[in-house]
Amino acid sequence: MVRTLAKISLVLLLIVALPMSFYLMREYSALTKNEQMVERVFSTQLESILFSVNQYSENVLGQWSQTLDHPLPPDDEMMHSLVENLLQNNPAILGIRFFEPDSQLVLAEFHRENHGGSFGDFPEAKQIAAMRDFLANNYQRLNASHSGELVQYCFLPKNKSGREACQLLVEPGTFIAQNLRAQVQQISQEIFYIQIRNKQTGQLMMHTGEAGEPTDSLQTAGMWYLPDYELGIRLKTKTIYELATERTRRDNYLILGMSLLVVLGFLFVLVNIRKEIKLAALKSEFVSNVSHEIRTPLALISMYAETLLLKRVKTEQKKEEYLLTIQQESIRLTDIVNRILNFSRLEKNRLAYTFETVDLNKLVPHILTSLQAHLHSGQVDCRFSSHTEPATVLADTEAVKDMLVNLIDNAIKYGADHDKKIEVRLLRKSKQIWVEVEDNGIGISAKNQRYVFDQFYRVTEGDLAHKAKGSGLGLNLVKRMMKAHGGSVAVRSKPGEGSTFILKFPMKK
Ligand code: ADP
Repeated sequence: MVRTLAKISLVLLLIVALPMSFYLMREYSALTKNEQMVERVFSTQLESILFSVNQYSENVLGQWSQTLDHPLPPDDEMMHSLVENLLQNNPAILGIRFFEPDSQLVLAEFHRENHGGSFGDFPEAKQIAAMRDFLANNYQRLNASHSGELVQYCFLPKNKSGREACQLLVEPGTFIAQNLRAQVQQISQEIFYIQIRNKQTGQLMMHTGEAGEPTDSLQTAGMWYLPDYELGIRLKTKTIYELATERTRRDNYLILGMSLLVVLGFLFVLVNIRKEIKLAALKSEFVSNVSHEIRTPLALISMYAETLLLKRVKTEQKKEEYLLTIQQESIRLTDIVNRILNFSRLEKNRLAYTFETVDLNKLVPHILTSLQAHLHSGQVDCRFSSHTEPATVLADTEAVKDMLVNLIDNAIKYGADHDKKIEVRLLRKSKQIWVEVEDNGIGISAKNQRYVFDQFYRVTEGDLAHKAKGSGLGLNLVKRMMKAHGGSVAVRSKPGEGSTFILKFPMKK
């Protein structure tokens, strides 16, 4: 049996567990790949949002430079008013100066009132040369450099064809607050958290989140026109990494659950197959038992009948004795056949019960009286006692009789060698009526008590299975019949001391 089971397990493993685990692993790796792709796509998305912030700041600076790009000389009245206007509308601009790039001669310089910020160095010659190259290609390039805490931007006005240069002195904090904040807020759309941070000091210049929101796991990018500053972005609620981790965790649990189900299913199939194999073995044993049981009465009947036919029996008394044996053996045969028939009907759920209200106080003694001859031949002292009055239950009289005959038969078969005693008792337990059949026989070990109600099960310890003939069906029949009555059957037993089988009927209200 162990080898058969091992073979079946291997086959099951090959046809179910292996493809399943292969599938799960494939699914898992596909999930990871998908996640990586989503993360890549998402990261590109965030990058493009940061790009748009940078582009916006370029647009602002481009507008300023365009305002100052004029054919008029810097010290002209009209230029003056343009500059004033620009300073007034843009608090971030602290100063504007026009100069000749080659001679570094200052042509005009304007400053916001009450502000001490001053311009730093002029751009180097090679930077001017590069800007001129860009201008020749019709692109006005802004050059950003530091002047202490401030940033200065230099460009060559198109209208002066590279002969003149202009510098803007800008305060980054005000630039961010006045010129970028609104746009960044709009881009973030309550979905993204965006921040601008000073890389040197770590100071947060602006952010679109709530106070105390975590500022870690951000995707960052430098700012094109504020070299000391850095942009940071992430999803407002959870980062894509957190979302992915959460989903991976959920998928892991799912996969784990599915694997567990597969293993459980596998075990379930294995247990069932084990049961079936055991049942097949018990069935074959049953066939040999029953054949043996039938053969003995048949042999006796045929032997006695033949002797009688051959008229070899001399006395009338002997004749009667032989006929009695033939009758008893026929009854035994009928009993065996009936039991098998009943069992087969029960198996197919074809045993019809006729339930009626019966008083067990009357029915049980009546059945015991009908079994007197049997009890007498078994040399048993059988007593009945009742501790309940009345004991009305809904039952099928024939079934109750079958059950009691089974239990009493067993009590005789497995009873004491001498001085066999059987006690049948009626008890009342809360909502049940118990019929107890107690014997002083060989008893049943605790291990076997668990199985005696299984079909075809027979105790094989010692030589019991051979000494007492049986089919292993009786107690299973009792169990099924009690179930049909809405009750149950139980056993209390100690090896060597005897057994008590209890039929528990629900009390009729
Ligand atoms: P069987 O035809 O073998 O008697 P049963 O289903 O009636 O089949 O009983 C199953 C097994 O339970 C028996 O083989 C026997 O070992 C054990 N058994 C049943 N009744 C008793 C009893 N009164 N005392 C001891 N053992 C019993």
